[in-house]
Amino acid sequence: MRTVEEHLAACLAAVSPLAPVETALLDAVDCVLAEDVVATSSLPAFDGSAMDGYALRAADVAGASPEAPVSLPVVADLPAGVREVTPLAAGAAARIMTGAPVPPGATAVVAVEDTDGGVATVLVRRAARDGQHVRRAGEDVRPGATLVPSGTRLTVRHVALLAAAGRERVKVLPKPRVAVLSTGSELVEPGRPAGFGQVVDANSTMLTAAALDAGARATRVGIVDDDPQRLLRVLEGQLGQADLVITSGGVSAGAYDVVKEVLTRMGTVEFTKVAMQPGMPQGLGRITSSTNGSVPIFTLPGNPVSAYVSFEVFVRPALRKVMGESQLHRPTVVATATQGWASPPGKRQFTRAVVTSDDDGRPRVRPAGGPGSHLVAGMAGANALAVTGEDTTAVEPGGVVRCILLERGRP
Ligand code: AMP
Ligand code: MG
Repeated sequence: MRTVEEHLAACLAAVSPLAPVETALLDAVDCVLAEDVVATSSLPAFDGSAMDGYALRAADVAGASPEAPVSLPVVADLPAGVREVTPLAAGAAARIMTGAPVPPGATAVVAVEDTDGGVATVLVRRAARDGQHVRRAGEDVRPGATLVPSGTRLTVRHVALLAAAGRERVKVLPKPRVAVLSTGSELVEPGRPAGFGQVVDANSTMLTAAALDAGARATRVGIVDDDPQRLLRVLEGQLGQADLVITSGGVSAGAYDVVKEVLTRMGTVEFTKVAMQPGMPQGLGRITSSTNGSVPIFTLPGNPVSAYVSFEVFVRPALRKVMGESQLHRPTVVATATQGWASPPGKRQFTRAVVTSDDDGRPRVRPAGGPGSHLVAGMAGANALAVTGEDTTAVEPGGVVRCILLERGRP
């Protein structure tokens, strides 16, 4: 049997980032930048007004107050977008709007609220200091500065900066196309009536949602029954369309475990047991064709809880590696158990759990639902996976447990 670390290492070794692509800014959000973006010009590009008011020389209104306003002739009107400004002479003011260029010679802007708002002449009721309400050219960004370094996962705020700096397109690591399929002759589509002995397919929806949540572009291929030929055809159909394939079901030791049967014959997928609960049977490798190359495949066990835990522990970090992320793992907290539970010797246990905070903000943890790997309702109520070590046989009330937080956004 493999340890969790050994299998995780194999999963990470099986994938690598895709070749960088140049993409429009809007498509780059959430992708990892594959170039250093360097500023080619200043931001702001020119000295501009931060207020609606009057550009003037601060020295001209040095003594201004409500009791002793200073009157100046208004010699220009400068709305935002004005393309030409003439230098401002001493003893004059220019009416100016927020975002308009401050004319050379002016040293400050007085807010309209501190004036009478005059058009031909203006009464200024307050003194100004040099530089007041002026946005200086280059105070935000100077030419040659690195705006966003390579390796950064682009947020909304990064694309705001890139747009402001005039970039329309950037080079990023593309999000992998992930194909998700469920195997099992007992499975029926969600929304269709399930007859006796049939089970509604939860895994393909769950794993597609999980891959999307991890940042990938995921497609739910759907259900394939336990027929080796059909499974082969569907898998081959994904070559050239997907960058990574995830299946669930059919990897145990049963007579109709076709994923294992078909892919073992192919010789490029290895089936192993991992010392964990749930999620012991795992398959990992590549599917290949002579015409369409090869892609990594993760074959997860069929029980929904096993499939989910397998995704979180192995597939999610692998997808994050493909996307060029430096942080592969979810955040964890150490929490105090408010009730005990049993843990199998020799296996790492991932228990669906609810982490809360007590009155002092200290994390608390309790199991969510029962231990069975088919219990999807218990899993739906969980917000964490409590991790207990191979040497642990029981968590006692009051004991401390490391918990993987499932609901936090990507770091
Ligand atoms: P398997 O790994 O194929 O032996 O499946 C183990 C258990 O998980 C069986 O009880 C299956 O019916 C169930 N199962 C497999 N695939 C799914 C699925 N896509 N959705 C819900 N249950 C499933
Ligand atoms: Mg099955």
